[in-house]
Amino acid sequence: MSRFLHEKYAPLEAYTPGEQPRDRAYIKLNTNESPYPPAPEVLDALGQQDLEDLRLYSDPEGKALKEKLAWYYGCQGENVFLSNGSDDILNFAFMAFGAQGAVFPSPSYSFYPVFAQLHGVPYRTVPLREDFTLDVEGLCHTGCLTVLANPNAPTGLAVGLEAIEGIVASNPDQVVLVDEAYIDFGGESAAELIHRYQNLLVVMTYSKSRSMAGARLGFALGDRELIADLEKLKFSTNPYNVNRLTLTLGAAAVDAAPYFVENAKRIMATRARTAAALQMLGFTFPDSKANFLFIRREGLPGALLYRKLKDRGVLIRHFSDPALADYNRVTIGTEEEMGVFLQEVRAILEEEGLYETG
Ligand code: PMP
Repeated sequence: MSRFLHEKYAPLEAYTPGEQPRDRAYIKLNTNESPYPPAPEVLDALGQQDLEDLRLYSDPEGKALKEKLAWYYGCQGENVFLSNGSDDILNFAFMAFGAQGAVFPSPSYSFYPVFAQLHGVPYRTVPLREDFTLDVEGLCHTGCLTVLANPNAPTGLAVGLEAIEGIVASNPDQVVLVDEAYIDFGGESAAELIHRYQNLLVVMTYSKSRSMAGARLGFALGDRELIADLEKLKFSTNPYNVNRLTLTLGAAAVDAAPYFVENAKRIMATRARTAAALQMLGFTFPDSKANFLFIRREGLPGALLYRKLKDRGVLIRHFSDPALADYNRVTIGTEEEMGVFLQEVRAILEEEGLYETG
């Protein structure tokens, strides 16, 4: 830290993204990316002209993409906000709507407390129940900005629309932000509720089901006034927060929507097969509606499994939070990747004397 940093940022503990090591080839099951490439229409969307047009700024309104997303989700362009990944929206939301503080479940996405700290938003957490299910009542009548991931991360558990509606309806004077980063893997989206609740902001991303994490594109759906608030902050921060190429690719991906829906189904099928195999090996995990499993094996500390798999060329996630020490989060890859993962897990269990081959 230099002596020039504003003192208010000195205690800030930055978010730690999942590692992206370059030292060797890994099977990457640590950052919930898609194992499949973007849609063929996305791969073909950019021509020489698009590259030459990089001399021009991107459309700060992102109008064409907003119209497409509005069509897909059954709303108007004025109900759509575009951003540089959905983290960008979370940042703006804590900045914009946190005047009375914020509340979110714990454990959940570890970026929420960082945004709260960054913007000086006092926050409290609502612990998940013992079995990791959401304390829905605890998120009702909060009196402040209420943020929840549905499905939750890192557990993968989802709640139904009724629970979400209950939370939104109980907090009419506060924004309820539903982070639907993983919604396409079996959850129930709250997008349709934006027509009935002025305080609901539904946040989605191209990073997971649409296989475009590197493009950095997120979007929010909400009442036009809420969206206008986010636009105000965006235009006061970085009007061109989504680049030209990404705007074009994002529109092509909407045209190719059946492709990502199909991919999500493949990932869900692989998730079910992986879950069954892990169960046979003595692992337990919540019922995931996301593209990852949150796994635990009696007698096998999470840090050990993480390290041993890394040595064998398979990356999974282990969290520094002591409450999660026994767990690992494993992204669902291709069938082949999960085959290798399971084979290595079996070998590690044998090494540790926790499993005997027949
Ligand atoms: N929300 C949740 C729950 C996430 O896990 C992630 C991915 N790290 C994000 C939001 C942000 O994703 P992105 O910025 O790539 O859209």
